Amino acid sequence: MRVLVLGAGVNGLSAGVILAEAGYDVHLLARELPLETTSAVAAAIWYPYLAEPRQRVLAWAQISFAAFVALADNPDSGVVIRPGNELLRGYTDDPWWACVVADLTRMDHVPSPYRSGWSFTTPVIDMPVYLRWLQRRLEAAGGTLTRMALGGLPDRAGLVVNCSGLGARLLATDDTLYPVRGQVVRVDQVGVDRWVLDGSEPTYVVPRSNDIIVGGTDTERQWDRRPDAEVAERIMARATVLVPALADARVLGHRVGLRPARPSVRLEVEQRGAHPVIHCYGHGGAGVTTSWGCAEEVLALAKALS
Ligand SMILES: Cc1cc2nc3c(=O)[nH]c(=O)nc-3n(C[C@H](O)[C@H](O)[C@H](O)COP(=O)(O)OP(=O)(O)OC[C@H]3O[C@@H](n4cnc5c(N)ncnc54)[C@H](O)[C@@H]3O)c2cc1C
Repeated sequence: MRVLVLGAGVNGLSAGVILAEAGYDVHLLARELPLETTSAVAAAIWYPYLAEPRQRVLAWAQISFAAFVALADNPDSGVVIRPGNELLRGYTDDPWWACVVADLTRMDHVPSPYRSGWSFTTPVIDMPVYLRWLQRRLEAAGGTLTRMALGGLPDRAGLVVNCSGLGARLLATDDTLYPVRGQVVRVDQVGVDRWVLDGSEPTYVVPRSNDIIVGGTDTERQWDRRPDAEVAERIMARATVLVPALADARVLGHRVGLRPARPSVRLEVEQRGAHPVIHCYGHGGAGVTTSWGCAEEVLALAKALS
């Protein structure tokens, strides 16, 4: 069966891979190619953030956690399992997703002004490496990727899978979608091997093999994709308090991504006349974290339709 997948971010590529490897004739169409997408800007750690509803997000995130742990055995995938700390300015219960990470531990000592924190081990995904690897895996399974900007959903395809992120505002006429702007700074790897997160600003330091992603911002309904120099300075100042070694790190670049936020992720079938569409968009700040679980659900929905 022929399937058109709209979008070449982490969701389009993951769904494309799973469908192609299950024997579907898969073709991705995308205005932005993988390295130009929001997905390429993500830090990215497995961490459920800004995505609802929790029960479905938890199930997708759990499947993805296991998938990323398995991928970490493949050095070409860009996935590495790393320990790190989340610092908190108050005392709270364990996070709602704690059951997924095997080793969540309360920290005994946290620096001021923090009051508590926890450590755990989680997948860190070097997105440019990983997206290229997903594209190769898609093509090895017979799938294709073509740059194409669409003005609406195709209406003569066998099956359409809509993974267009924020683009679904136009393609699915969905005005519940909105951007949550995230700015990051890419710096030299200066020997940092643990990730650190302070969710209150947010501020995070995510080490990768050859560089470090330092963030960030989460400004709702801001569409500007140009990096702001003053914001970058403030990000670096906050992050250097968390990880003093960053004071010596050379800045390699600045990126902005618009997280596709929505009151809840849309993953469902819409029957448009004789042509079904599987929508899979609106993953907010957790599109990488939920990607394999969502792709598996897309496959299950496709099987039910064929
Ligand atoms: C700074 C930052 C840090 C982040 N950190 C993390 C993290 O640590 N962990 C995590 O899980 N998530 C993180 N995220 C969130 C994550 O990046 C997103 O949830 C995810 O990238 C969404 O992926 P997607 O494939 O749905 O959309 P996108 O990556 O936005 O891809 C959408 C695709 O649809 C295409 N498209 C749109 N409209 C059209 C059209 N009209 N015609 C054709 N094609 C179209 C686009 O061109 C693109 O190819 C972060 C995001 C940002 C910005």
